Amino acid sequence: MKAEGLDVVGFGAGEPDFDTPCYIVKAANEALKKGLTKYTPVSGTIELKNVIAAKLNRDNFVDYSIDEIIVSNGAKHTLHNVFQAILNPGDEVIILKPYWLSYPELVKMAYGVPIFVDTDKEKGFNIVVSAIEKAITPKTKAIIINSPNNPTGAVYPEQTLREMAELATEKGLYIISDEIYEKIIYGDQEHTCVAGLSQDIKNHTITVNGLSKAYAMTGWRIGYAAGPRDVIKTMCNIQSHSTSNPNSIAQYASVAALSMNSDFISKMNTELNKRRLYMVNTVNSIDNLSCSIPCGAFYVMVNIRDIINKKHNGKIIDSSLTFAKELLNAKMVTLVPGEAFGMEGFVRLSYAVAQENIEKGLSRIEDFVGELK
Ligand code: PLP
Repeated sequence: MKAEGLDVVGFGAGEPDFDTPCYIVKAANEALKKGLTKYTPVSGTIELKNVIAAKLNRDNFVDYSIDEIIVSNGAKHTLHNVFQAILNPGDEVIILKPYWLSYPELVKMAYGVPIFVDTDKEKGFNIVVSAIEKAITPKTKAIIINSPNNPTGAVYPEQTLREMAELATEKGLYIISDEIYEKIIYGDQEHTCVAGLSQDIKNHTITVNGLSKAYAMTGWRIGYAAGPRDVIKTMCNIQSHSTSNPNSIAQYASVAALSMNSDFISKMNTELNKRRLYMVNTVNSIDNLSCSIPCGAFYVMVNIRDIINKKHNGKIIDSSLTFAKELLNAKMVTLVPGEAFGMEGFVRLSYAVAQENIEKGLSRIEDFVGELK
């Protein structure tokens, strides 16, 4: 529709609408000028792995040596390697609902079985440890945790994460902690690195992170994992025979991103925070829509349960997917239906979108909801 010149407002963005900071681009240019265009070690350059180890120590208070770290082509590729490394056919992986939509597919690609466990949608989508405990079977291999969370923006409290991690450790499970939104966090919220909770927990945890969100580097494709040496070694073997090293220039740029001082993240967060507050207030001012305030990432889960089964121009809105389709047809606004995240009755709006488009798009949503009968 955009290609046809139509004025579509998109709330689907899963990436910051900011440019990669100049100091990172400059480091990439310098790497090109120096001709650093050859293969690197499969698991990443020693320089980058050292910088990642220093970051984990500085920001997350957890020590890793470089043979416990692997750099891959984005955090999604990192997760793919994790599941390929740890799962045997039929192994179960606990995934909290709503979930980032690639988790179940990544598990299935490794012949694993996703087991879904609800979070508490009335309490900001927080983890319910007793529900996780009930879902554990002799086939459970791992639990995947994502805080700050996509799609809910939830930041799980340290105490809840500790209880979950102690349970997993006691049962001998892996915890896969996807911390890709670590730096996008608001107010006095604090990020908890699960591996930093205790030595025992660290031994069971594979921390996944990357450069995509914090440094507006989605296209550069750099993600990494830190975890038990044997798991990381298996991931390296898999990567060695599939993609080899991640892009050499992006690795040199990532060294700059993680090691140089910059106010980029705090400036980006200040802007995102303004949009977050605007979006939450506006959504909650629209009759029949509501949302809780996200503490991190850049998404709002909007509750549309009160409009399910209402009609728009005679058409029944019977699901989040119908809502999304009708909204697009009638008002040229895109958003992601909750069923993509395993959460019917909700839709996800991203606020990594320019403020003027947020205002325009929300006013169209308000008109649409006002027209429902
Ligand atoms: N994990 C979560 C929760 C995400 O939302 C995303 C991207 O949207 C990723 C991982 C993948 O990030 P990358 O671009 O580094 O592959």
